[in-house]
Amino acid sequence: MSDTVALSRLARQPLCRPEVSGLPRYNAGLSEDEVQRRYSLKNIVKLGSNENPYGPSTQVKAVWDNLASRLGRYPDAAAMTLRSDIAKVCGIELDRILVGNGSEQIIRMIAEAYLSPQDRVVTVKPAFGLHEICPRMMGAVVDAVPITEQATFDCAALQQAVQSPTKVLMFANPSNPVGCMMKGDELQELIASCPPDALIVVDEAYREYAEQDPDYPDARTILEKQERPWIILRTFSKAYGLAALRIGYALTSSGEISAALDTVRDPFNTNMPAQVAACAVLADVAYMKDCVRKTVAERERVVQFLITKGLFVAPTWTNFVFVRTSMKADKLAVALLEQGIIIKPWKEAGFENWIRISIGLPEENNIVMNALADLVL
Ligand SMILES: *Cc1c(COP(=O)(O)O)cnc(C)c1O
Repeated sequence: MSDTVALSRLARQPLCRPEVSGLPRYNAGLSEDEVQRRYSLKNIVKLGSNENPYGPSTQVKAVWDNLASRLGRYPDAAAMTLRSDIAKVCGIELDRILVGNGSEQIIRMIAEAYLSPQDRVVTVKPAFGLHEICPRMMGAVVDAVPITEQATFDCAALQQAVQSPTKVLMFANPSNPVGCMMKGDELQELIASCPPDALIVVDEAYREYAEQDPDYPDARTILEKQERPWIILRTFSKAYGLAALRIGYALTSSGEISAALDTVRDPFNTNMPAQVAACAVLADVAYMKDCVRKTVAERERVVQFLITKGLFVAPTWTNFVFVRTSMKADKLAVALLEQGIIIKPWKEAGFENWIRISIGLPEENNIVMNALADLVL
C-alpha cells in the first residue's frame, strides 16, 4: 500500500473514540428564540421540555438582588450551604449528597465513575436519552426493556433483564418520556432481583408531581432497607422552576459512592447564583406545591380532551403527556412549530408516532389542544 493510500484511509477514520462516533445526539429541543427566528413568529408556546410554566418562587428574586457584586469570586466548590439545606430537608448525612450542573451532569458522572467497556446497563425503552447515551459513551452495553402495550413499566421483563450480569440499573420513576409510575411493591421486587453489587440509580426528576399518589414509592425508603449501592437523582429544573440555572442533586447509599462521584466531578461544577437560588426554592416548598397542584389539574384537562378525541394517552404521573397519534411525530411537530408551538416528537424506532407535550399555562394548553384538533383529529 502506498503512503498516500494509507494516509487517506487514516484520514477517513474519525479521530474520536468509536464509542463517541457511533452515538446519537441528545435531542435538547428547540429554544423559543430559534423558533421565533426560523418561522418569523412573535408568540411561542413552549411545551417541549417539561418546565414549570409558572417559573420559580419569587424568593429567588429576593436573594438574587445583590448577586452582581459577588460575581467576581469562584462559587463554593463544595456547595456547603445548599448541601446542608438538602441534608436538613431530606434528613440525610451531608457526605451522602452531591450536587450537579443539572442532574444530567450527575448521570454523566455516574457513567464516568462506574462504567467500563462491556459493562451491562439495564434501562427502559423509551428512556430519558442520557440514561442510554452516557453509559454508551463509556463503552457500556445498554439493554433497554420496552414498556408494555398499555404504556406502563414491564416489571416482569425488567426483573428478568436484571438477572443477567448487571452493573447498573438506571431508570426514571415516574418515567420520562412515558409518564408511567412504578409502584412500591414492583420497585421492591425489581431491586430484589438485581445482583447484590449492581448499582441502582432511580431518577426522580418528576417525583414532585407523583408524590400525592399513595402508590408512588419513595425509592429511598425502599433502598435504605437494602445493603446495596444506590443513587437517587433529583432536580430543581422541573417542579422547582429553575431549568435555566442547571442544578440538581444526588442522594447516595454511602459516603463511598459520593466520593467516587466527587472524584470525577468538575471542581466548580455548580455556579454561585444557582446554588443561592436552589436554597431559596427549597425554603418555599409551598409555592412549588401550588404549581404542581395547578399543573396536575391542567394535565387532567388535557388528558380528558385527548382521550375524548380518541387518541391513546399513556397514563401519566408527571407534568407531561405522551400521546400516540395517527401522524408521524416529526411531521406533526413541524406543523405545530409553524404555529409557534414547541412539543417533543419521539424519534426512536417503534415510537415514531408518539409525541410528548408538556403541560403549560391554561391558555397555552388551549392553544396546543386546538392545534392538535385541527391537525390529527
Ligand atoms: C429533565 C430530566 C433530567 C434533567 O434534569 P436537569 O437537572 O435539568 O439536568 C434528568 N432526568 C430526567 C428523567 C429528566 O426528565
